Amino acid sequence: MRIVIKIGTSTLTYATGNLHIRHVETLCKVISDLKNAGHEIILVSSGAIGMGTGKLGLPERPKDMPTKQAAAAVGQCELMYFYDKLFSEYNHTVGQILITGSDLENAQRNQNFRNTVERLLELKVLPVINENDTVATEEIAVGDNDTLAAIVATVASANLLILLSDIDGLYTADPHKDPDAKLIPDVFEISEEILALAGGAGSELGTGGMKTKLSAASLCTESGTDMVIANGSEPELLYGIVDGEPIGTKFHKKASNI
Ligand code: GLU
Repeated sequence: MRIVIKIGTSTLTYATGNLHIRHVETLCKVISDLKNAGHEIILVSSGAIGMGTGKLGLPERPKDMPTKQAAAAVGQCELMYFYDKLFSEYNHTVGQILITGSDLENAQRNQNFRNTVERLLELKVLPVINENDTVATEEIAVGDNDTLAAIVATVASANLLILLSDIDGLYTADPHKDPDAKLIPDVFEISEEILALAGGAGSELGTGGMKTKLSAASLCTESGTDMVIANGSEPELLYGIVDGEPIGTKFHKKASNI
């Protein structure tokens, strides 16, 4: 299977912006194992701004563009340093791709991106993709990595996109506020009722929330890719998700694409 896995800032870092070593070490181990089993994996990783915030000792995620971009420049290095180090332990090579919305909209650059990803996969390299936050100002940014991951999954014709977040999946109500909230295991149609379940952005350091996850699900399922939202704090869940076990919330691709 060709699988895109998106890791959110809330999984990669603590609220302090420091690396969540337990999560990241386990994730790298499980992803390496899935690659060893023959799956093609593409990683879309957030965390540049979050980790840069921690490394620079800033009191909170920056709000102004130059500081955000400076934090991303610092954090992206830190992120790739850890991925390179941890995946190397399992004999896997990583390759970094930084991209913007306008790169993806430009036919030639989009094709170059596609070619690079294909070649990296042929070379058994694990592509690690993030938005190029140092240049991606609002006008040219994809804006959040849920959407970026969905675009990557579509462009790379992946079978499955897994969004790892700090929540188990889509609930009937906000589980932080409503004790009766129930996890929705399967979504076959992203109806008005489903869209109404999305709130705003999730954590302090990341940008995504259920809203961006649902628009990612629309994009994927329309173009023939299944999508699962699951909790990134238990990276071993990835084994079950890949085996098709009912974990998190699965958005099923449109029947016409099966
Ligand atoms: N590209 C941003 C970063 O690496 C994350 C965007 C997101 O969290 O969706 O910090």
